[in-house]
Amino acid sequence: MTLHKNYIGGQWVAGTDASVNINPSDTNDVIGEFSNASREQVADAIGVARKALVKWSGYTTQMRSDILSNISIELFNRKEELGELLAREEGKTRAEAIGEVARAANIFRFFAGETVRINGEKLASVRPGIDVEVSRDPVGVVGIITPWNFPIAIPAWKIAPALAFGNTVVFKPAELTPASAWALTEIIAKAGLPEGVFNLVMGSGPIVGQAMLDGVDAITFTGSVKTGRSIVQRATERMIRVQAEMGGKNPLVVLDDADFDTAVFCAVDGAFLQAGQRCTASSRLIVTDGIHDRFVAAVAQRIDKLVIDHALKAGTQVGPVVDQRQLDQDLRYVDIGIREGARCLVAGKTLKRETPGFYLSPTLFVDTTNDMQINREEIFGPVASVIRVKNYDEALAIANDTDFGLSAGICTTSQKHARHFQTNIQSGLTMLNLPTAGLDYHVPFGGRKGSSYGAREQGRYAIDFYTIVKTSYLTV
Ligand code: ADP
Repeated sequence: MTLHKNYIGGQWVAGTDASVNINPSDTNDVIGEFSNASREQVADAIGVARKALVKWSGYTTQMRSDILSNISIELFNRKEELGELLAREEGKTRAEAIGEVARAANIFRFFAGETVRINGEKLASVRPGIDVEVSRDPVGVVGIITPWNFPIAIPAWKIAPALAFGNTVVFKPAELTPASAWALTEIIAKAGLPEGVFNLVMGSGPIVGQAMLDGVDAITFTGSVKTGRSIVQRATERMIRVQAEMGGKNPLVVLDDADFDTAVFCAVDGAFLQAGQRCTASSRLIVTDGIHDRFVAAVAQRIDKLVIDHALKAGTQVGPVVDQRQLDQDLRYVDIGIREGARCLVAGKTLKRETPGFYLSPTLFVDTTNDMQINREEIFGPVASVIRVKNYDEALAIANDTDFGLSAGICTTSQKHARHFQTNIQSGLTMLNLPTAGLDYHVPFGGRKGSSYGAREQGRYAIDFYTIVKTSYLTV
């Protein structure tokens, strides 16, 4: 079996031991072995990244832009092959995976452009004979910790702006999806960066992730609330810049006046595609009385027909969940929902397919209340609850009654309610007659409350995290 090594200081280096990566659609399919970096190797990676800072930030913006552009072109050219690898290790469908690689390519292309657009301000001083310039410096060595559910797009939306604005990088991907991260690293390694500018350290959160926190100048994380909180705490203790994107408990409000087909589409797509493993997935369907019964029946009928099978098989609409631990967690929440009195209209169960994998059918709970555990905690699986409400006001109050605030949608034809929702929903993303998941790559992404901490990611707003503002006073 091929051993995939870490990438430190421009060299491929073996770690202390290695982990085996398996395909969730077919647990007999072993993707490869991936080296786990030691704490010392993480420290080495931070050291070489620090050394490379002066050289890299001194590159012209054209040189940095060209390198990001090289990465983008290679990702576009190889999107089919990389998409297949991604689907094989993560379990999303081939089409979704190829789309994700194309998204990563677009992100690198976007930031190749942003690199040459870095600007500042020049102001007159309030004192005579002085000019004031406001410019942006790189933050330094950026630590990047990513989850398994978007194993190439999330790394791309952190790595591309970090490099664009002159930072160096130490990247730790999720344990479950090292293959996509390794493939991306191989592309980055050939793109023309000086040694040490980009480093890959694979391995566990408690060892590799923790070791990163001790040395970097800034940390950007996407993952669970629990890990995110501990990372924010450690980072603030060290007084380094931190950005954490965590979970969601995203509401989709469906009003009586909604276009019926649009509402059903938004619910099924937002809650169940990609097996519900998106932090923007709709998990609370908040539905007004007049449309409730018809809507619930249609959603139940639609999800019953979803084709759940091997991620790479033609016709598959939903692949397996990512691993046994996630499957157990999803089923545990189904039990919790039943025990706390939710009616299980469609009950999720494990499915047998031609190959052994973590196949799980969707669950739709009805007659739920917003205080139930299934409506308070992120499940991260193909499980959604319906909450019946009397009117828009009650729907909005329930939508906002949550510890999270990532994405929120409303299906309505009323402009009045749509505008009111857009203004008053406490979330970072809001969708009108669209699923809560499914986002563009060139605009800011992030949430409120327990969902996000720190500056926004993506689009032109990414510069705020990856640069530090400098104000210069110059006598003329
Ligand atoms: P999930 O439960 O979806 O795996 P996690 O928050 O545990 O979410 O993982 C997201 C990323 O955070 C992964 O790369 C993981 O290795 C990393 N991670 C987990 N625990 C820690 C930790 N204590 N310190 C730093 N990184 C961690």
